[in-house]
Amino acid sequence: MGKLCMYCMEEYRNDDIMVPYKINEVGVYQDCPKRTCDGKIYTIDDSIISTITILNSKGYHTYSSCAGHHLEHSTECYIEFTNEVKSIPVLPVGFKLRKKTIEGKTRLAIYCKPNSEDPIDQFTELLDFAQILYEWAIELDFNFSGLNIAVIDLGSEYIFSPLVESAFLNVGKTDAKEKMEKQNKEKLKHTSNKSNGPDTGEIRLKEVTKAKRKRCNSSAIAKSESKKESKNKSGYPKKNKD
Ligand SMILES: [Zn+2]
Ligand SMILES: [Zn+2]
Repeated sequence: MGKLCMYCMEEYRNDDIMVPYKINEVGVYQDCPKRTCDGKIYTIDDSIISTITILNSKGYHTYSSCAGHHLEHSTECYIEFTNEVKSIPVLPVGFKLRKKTIEGKTRLAIYCKPNSEDPIDQFTELLDFAQILYEWAIELDFNFSGLNIAVIDLGSEYIFSPLVESAFLNVGKTDAKEKMEKQNKEKLKHTSNKSNGPDTGEIRLKEVTKAKRKRCNSSAIAKSESKKESKNKSGYPKKNKD
């Protein structure tokens, strides 16, 4: 079993943290010991811990999960997502999707049950499921609506990340988060309005290279000018050593 902070995605060893256990509606958790993080640490089955990290980093926030345990009656491998995840673009091979609505919140989960009753075969099947999940998570497209990242458009001015602001300018973390979400939404709108086809990226790249070239040329000129200057400087009267 490994331990994973669901906010900063730091992975801890079982004996790494001396923090008291607490319990909530998801299960047993610990507060992340990092000063800069108010995340909760949950125990995740070893064979799917990398998959859970990838999914959360890609904006598919997970609510609970289990890799399945052989020798247990009617075990299954599943990953349940938070209610903010509204759809999964592609399902992992052999996995099914189910919906659960509790207190008005609908959560999606992907799951797969081993076919065999034999414990050794079940063990192999569960490991296969873990591998399928890992490869699927790597290929999965990002869920941008679930990400708190500043999308930087190369074509416009650089916008300072609100999280950086919060670190330096006493802005509350939640304020920063809200501001960043707003910025991201505006940015996404901005870029989607702009892009007329798949060529945009290429055009932008070309613009950047052009700009770079310009900069290179100007620096070359500046260098040659400074050389001239230094030549002139060499004409200055030398200091008397006496
Ligand atoms: Zn953390
Ligand atoms: Zn489990």
